[in-house]
Amino acid sequence: MTCDNSHYPVQRSPNRRDRELSSHPCPWPGCPQRVPAHMWSCRPHWFALPRPYRAAIWAAYVPGQTVTTWTPAYEHAHNAAVAWCNRQVAR
Ligand SMILES: [Zn+2]
Repeated sequence: MTCDNSHYPVQRSPNRRDRELSSHPCPWPGCPQRVPAHMWSCRPHWFALPRPYRAAIWAAYVPGQTVTTWTPAYEHAHNAAVAWCNRQVAR
């Protein structure tokens, strides 16, 4: 798995818009990684998340979803997890 496409010239990207829909920024505050649509965050931050938050995200996850097709249930789980991240960073 690689999250770093910055060494490829932008012109070589076959479809920049598809690429942006198929990945999203890691939701952890201040994290610069982009992560694939099927993952909630970059790997270290995913495993930093307590198990109940990960379980809630998986329970609401719909295969093939993108940031534009999130269900309300997924958004709820996402917001709860982001709130937890913000509490860690604020410490
Ligand atoms: Zn991250």
